[in-house]
This record gives sequence, structure tokens and C-alpha cells, in this order.
Amino acid sequence: MTSIRTGLGFDVHRFAAPEEGRPLMLMGCAIPHDRGLAGHSDADVMLHALMDALLGAAGLGDIGLHFPDTDPTYRGADSTVLLERVMGDLAERGWRVANADVCLIGERPKIGPHRQRMRDRIAPLLGIHAEALNVKATTTEKLGFTGRGEGLAAQAVVLIERI
Ligand SMILES: [Zn+2]
Repeated sequence: MTSIRTGLGFDVHRFAAPEEGRPLMLMGCAIPHDRGLAGHSDADVMLHALMDALLGAAGLGDIGLHFPDTDPTYRGADSTVLLERVMGDLAERGWRVANADVCLIGERPKIGPHRQRMRDRIAPLLGIHAEALNVKATTTEKLGFTGRGEGLAAQAVVLIERI
């Protein structure tokens, strides 16, 4: 039986208008910024990519399948709570996380000042040391929707292993 697997996740959210007053949530942390991301849940684009990577690695589909945005239960949902449910599903099937790498794509905000807080917030939910959860960011050289500041994208890859 295969003892390790990888998974890939990708997600995009557009920025809400500033007057909507939505907080910007990234990796379970409120990030000071002039706009938040729009979405049915808290629109934590990095955690959504991470959850899709986890579900992908375990062969469990994607977050749209588990937490449909047509379900009012998930309106404004805290993505860290959804992540805990995803981790429960993986544990039930005998998987634990070895490491994860999450990349935010956008011009702003810069995540450097928040990187360690993000790792410290999410690594315990993954059951790994903060050092095994990498958080990084890139711009698209001002090209495309992320370059124009219309929204943010995120990618994630994970490695899971048999418990
Ligand atoms: Zn999303």
C-alpha cells in the first residue's frame, strides 16, 4: 500500500469593495489591509488552497464537494474550522500531514510581517511543527487580475503519509 501521497490546491478570490468592510483573512489570521476578499465563507484563499491540496492527496475530492457554497451553513464560515474537519477526514482514513507549502499570489499585502504568525496559527491544526509549514508569496509582475489588484490567488502542495 502506498505510504505517501501528494496533493495540489489552487484558489482565487476577488477583493470586496472597501465599503463592504470585510476583514482580510489569510491562513487564519486577520491581516491589516484596505480591503478583504469576497466570498461565501471568510474567503481565506490560502487555507482554501491548502484544504484542496489535503483533500486531493487523500483522494477525497475538493472543498466545493465538502462545503458547497450553496449551503447556508458555510456563509461566513471560519476556514480554520473547515480545515479541522478536513484533518478529521484524513485522520479517519489513516493519513497525517508530513509538510505543506502554501504560496500567495498578489502584489499586496506583503506577508513577510505575518509569515510566522500564519505558520504558528495553522501548523498545530495540521499536526506538524511550524517549520514543516512553509508560507511564501509572489507577485505576477503587475500582470493579470492579481497584478491589477482585483483579487488574490493561492497555491498549495502537501505531502501526507500513513499514520
Ligand atoms: Zn476559496
